[in-house]
Amino acid sequence: MCYFDHQLWPCGWWRWGSFREQCNKEYRTGETCGLKLIYNTYLEPHPCSKCETMDKKARRIAKMSDDIARWRYEGNRIATIEKTQREIAELNDQIEQLWREHEKRKMSISY
Ligand SMILES: [Zn+2]
Repeated sequence: MCYFDHQLWPCGWWRWGSFREQCNKEYRTGETCGLKLIYNTYLEPHPCSKCETMDKKARRIAKMSDDIARWRYEGNRIATIEKTQREIAELNDQIEQLWREHEKRKMSISY
């Protein structure tokens, strides 16, 4: 059991930081025994990069939805509206995928 720093984001995302201390089961210099323990937890003030990516995609969806509403009002933009709706569906899939990975990470203790 070797000690590592631990970074924790407000949303629950986390990752191991730098190696801190060897345990007495490990005698090779610079090696770790493979079992990680938390030495210190550092709380990150900002959302994790996955949350930021999801946020960016959500903002793009909001903007495209506004565009669609405007185009519907203006009329004559059916092809563009359909194309944009497909893009929105793709972005929704990507957000769902990111969210699943994010939640999996939150539940896991051994990455
Ligand atoms: Zn996050």
